[in-house]
Amino acid sequence: MEDLSRFVLDYVKKEGAVYAGIATIETLAGGPPSTDLTYVLPGARSAISFALPLDQDCIEPFLSKRNRRSHERDNLKTNALSGGISLHLAKYLEQKGIASMPLCANEVYRTDTEYGMLEMKPDISLRYLAVASGVGHFGLSGNVITKGYGAAIILGGVITTAELKPTPPLLSQDNYCDSCRLCMASCASGMMSPEEKTTVTMGGVKYTYSRRRSYLRCEYVCGGFTGLHPSGKWSTWSPGRFTIPDDESEFRDLLIESIKAYEKWPDMEGGHYHLMMGRPLYLTCGNCSLICHPEKGVRKKRYKMLTESGVVVQKPDGSLEALSPEGARDYFSSLDEETRTRYGVK
Ligand code: SF4
Ligand code: SF4
Repeated sequence: MEDLSRFVLDYVKKEGAVYAGIATIETLAGGPPSTDLTYVLPGARSAISFALPLDQDCIEPFLSKRNRRSHERDNLKTNALSGGISLHLAKYLEQKGIASMPLCANEVYRTDTEYGMLEMKPDISLRYLAVASGVGHFGLSGNVITKGYGAAIILGGVITTAELKPTPPLLSQDNYCDSCRLCMASCASGMMSPEEKTTVTMGGVKYTYSRRRSYLRCEYVCGGFTGLHPSGKWSTWSPGRFTIPDDESEFRDLLIESIKAYEKWPDMEGGHYHLMMGRPLYLTCGNCSLICHPEKGVRKKRYKMLTESGVVVQKPDGSLEALSPEGARDYFSSLDEETRTRYGVK
């Protein structure tokens, strides 16, 4: 058990993981449904969790609207690397006679929920595995944060029937989150409740972070269909202008309306095929995690960059440009009504 536990942690670190840990059914006990390892592998006993860093050099050009594509490329590549490491380790263990299941870093959804895949509930939550195994802490945002790379990481995991030795959760006094709330301030969708908290218990340990409001908020904004912050002063990389209501019940119809309109936007550079869309999606947000650097001064600098980065519009050739809020209003006024409607401008 000790040798195999050491081996799997060393395996993922040699492939590029900066943090790795092991959770077991005991250390996950009492957690939400997405901590049930047997959901993906009957007889599962343990999970190997790891984190890969995103390229910090691509983050500030992304937040300041100087370069969207370099961060998108890095993010997609790191997600693919996470899945690749998980697959290789799972296959290694299987060929040693230990049933194992690799996890995808993203975009695997449960179909047995009330609204099926639309709810975007993961088969297994990599966040919970990471926190229970000491890979990182929960920040107030609910994102997993790490002392070296903040929340700018991509998680990965392998579920196995092997009885591995668990690694303990990190000490709460070592969590750098100081409730600065810049994650909330940089979210145009209002996904994180400013007042209410959620508490999760795993292995007898309690973890608290801000309550996540409807996930449709993040799907709507992080999906790239809209992105103007309610202040009107800055946007994500999305050129969409569909309103972001306060009332949760309005999101479903707005999401459907904006997706229909999005189908008519010109193609942009880059992108990624998502299983629920007929055309590529583009990385336009992720602000809550990109802002959250371990050093408060860097967080503040990044927040300033974001909020001074302007408002994105899309040109007829598909390219994106960040303008001042006034410049963007003038740009939309110069368009015909049908084109304006396509971006949600009434
Ligand atoms: S941005 Fe601030 S409040 Fe949010 S998770 Fe990071 S440190 Fe915590
Ligand atoms: S990814 Fe964007 S929309 Fe989603 S919660 Fe983070 S900041 Fe908000």
